[in-house]
Amino acid sequence: MISFCQPTKVGTEAKYIQQALESVKLSGDGAFSKKCERWFEDSLGCDKALLTPSCTQALEMAALLINLQPGDEVIMPSFTFVSTANAFVLRGAKVVFVDIRPDTLNIDECKVEAAINSRTKAIVAVHYAGVSCEMDMLREVADRNSIYLIEDAAQAIGSRYIQRPLGTFGHIGCYSFHDTKNITSGGEGGLLILNDVSLAERAEIIREKGTNRSQFTRGEVGKYTWVDLGSSYLPSELQAAYLWAQLQEASYICATRKAIWLRYDEAFRPYKDKWQVLLPEIPAHCEHNAHIYHFRFRDQELRDRFIAHLLQQGITAVFHYVPLHSSVAGKKFGVFHDQDNFTTKASQTLVRLPLFFNMTYDEVSQVVSTIMSFFEEHS
Ligand SMILES: *Cc1c(COP(=O)(O)O)cnc(C)c1O
Repeated sequence: MISFCQPTKVGTEAKYIQQALESVKLSGDGAFSKKCERWFEDSLGCDKALLTPSCTQALEMAALLINLQPGDEVIMPSFTFVSTANAFVLRGAKVVFVDIRPDTLNIDECKVEAAINSRTKAIVAVHYAGVSCEMDMLREVADRNSIYLIEDAAQAIGSRYIQRPLGTFGHIGCYSFHDTKNITSGGEGGLLILNDVSLAERAEIIREKGTNRSQFTRGEVGKYTWVDLGSSYLPSELQAAYLWAQLQEASYICATRKAIWLRYDEAFRPYKDKWQVLLPEIPAHCEHNAHIYHFRFRDQELRDRFIAHLLQQGITAVFHYVPLHSSVAGKKFGVFHDQDNFTTKASQTLVRLPLFFNMTYDEVSQVVSTIMSFFEEHS
């Protein structure tokens, strides 16, 4: 059986976890957390990077940081994971969904401005499959309208837009270290990236239950107390130790995934027209991280037959997302602006192939040959 996804393992995780166990501090903001955060601050060049227990919680912190009020509106694609929307709905916001582009499946940057009104507080850019949204234009639209740009870069660690890392274009960026993502902090985890000094200071307070404990620890204030809204958004040192192991191998992990992604692409691209499938399109100025390899079929029926065929041959391939605007909660908390030309279509026709760091050469070969034989029967 070839699974669709397995958590990345580089082999040194246990060693660092053991080190964390031997230290006198296991709660958040310990030595491993600091090391990981400094690693991100150096490699991203952001004002501040804060580990969080998940990307979902980094997004929730973003909603608190921009002072979202009930009735405010937040623009985002409908073709995304629920957390993109939930984090803002929890603060009472209404979600305004904008259609995606047919090539990258990212929010159509040309359709965003028409969805902005006086209640709009932020645009959330989701970098699907680790392929960048059009960040220059989105930032320009956000700045011209004096609203925030937030990046849900859950899938985008290691990706770039015109050579700059994703997560550093918005006022705020969020990464995920869930075990389905390229790099994991032991199953669950996330990162909040602050690209605005004024937000960075407050983020520390929100993450420490609304207290100025971080300033107290640094000796900047004499006692620590409740100063703002907040919650507990710190991962433990065990998660940070696991993450530290993987950060040491970050480029190797990315290169290994890329090699698998390219083997798929080289095998399938020549047949694209014959098979009538759409393959991932990577704009020339976007450097991706091989998070997802996907096909899009001409209709849902063939897509479903493809998934069933692979499963019969012992290979798990999956689809996503149920468009948020057509979900039970999405109908209640959101509205689709303008027309849905590509969102529902992508959801009905897309399939993701198995792709994970520890996937063997033979497993990739087996997926390729099983797909070849499927199309011998179906095209
Ligand atoms: C995985 C994912 C999330 C949630 O990440 P968690 O770390 O599991 O909370 C949010 N947004 C997108 C686009 C994702 O792919």
